[in-house]
Amino acid sequence: MKVGLVTYKPEHVEGYDLHVYYSKWADGQAFPAAKGMQNDVTVFCDAKAIREDPSIVSISNSGPALRRNRKSNLAFDFVCPTHPGYRAKVFDYLDSLLQQDIIGVTLNLYHFADQEYCTCPRCSGQRRKSGLDWTEWRAQTVTAFLKEAKTHTKGTFAVEMYPDPVLAKERFGLDFNAIADLVDYFHVPLSSRDYFTNYWVDTIVRDFVAMLKKPVVVELSAEMPTDEKLNALLKTVAYISRHNLDAVLLLVHDSENARQIAKFAVQNSDFREWLAKYEFEEMSRIVDCWAKIY
Ligand SMILES: [Zn+2]
Repeated sequence: MKVGLVTYKPEHVEGYDLHVYYSKWADGQAFPAAKGMQNDVTVFCDAKAIREDPSIVSISNSGPALRRNRKSNLAFDFVCPTHPGYRAKVFDYLDSLLQQDIIGVTLNLYHFADQEYCTCPRCSGQRRKSGLDWTEWRAQTVTAFLKEAKTHTKGTFAVEMYPDPVLAKERFGLDFNAIADLVDYFHVPLSSRDYFTNYWVDTIVRDFVAMLKKPVVVELSAEMPTDEKLNALLKTVAYISRHNLDAVLLLVHDSENARQIAKFAVQNSDFREWLAKYEFEEMSRIVDCWAKIY
């Protein structure tokens, strides 16, 4: 198992095998490519673009796909996934990354906002014309988008997903088997403020590893200010390292945060004894590697 970082700053940190850089954010900010890294691009969540042109927002019978619409429980504001002008803008951005020396591209939030979206006249018309039912048309629309988007990328191609292994197709249009044919790996974000309770991380990781037909990479939040939280995070990483994961990614503020985690693990003799006692071989190997650097 590799260990890597998800960062908001394009900084390589020693001791981490994989670097994922957030190059386009859900608030609409877009940055130049991070060279030598996997560039992670937010697709249909773009608060800035919706502010500039509210007509592009995705809609449902209970209102628009906006955080302030409390009839839906949305973490971001969603653009309609069939809007041709917005899609062209995303492809232009991907083309700008393509010209740089990057490892590859990960797409996130490239799907429908939730089960009841999108009922705009364009989506309704396209669905009628397809002859497909609601679920199938939405899934095929997302898969076709990914196929087209991939032609605007190079190198390693990956996708994040809403971490629902059961209803992802019905809710978001995510057909994991169809998407598996397009991607090099799946990136599953399991964000939390802390991992004091971690059975759900272990459960969702097992589910995705069992069902997805491509390698799985799991992201955990690591912007932890306290030793107790760091300890719980590292033990959670140890538990999931027993599954057949390609990598664990730690979401950090910056490179200092990433070094702090490695140092904390190396200097924490209780943790290292616990790893040895319960035979967490992969995690012990990772901490031994960190010990040569930190
Ligand atoms: Zn629509």
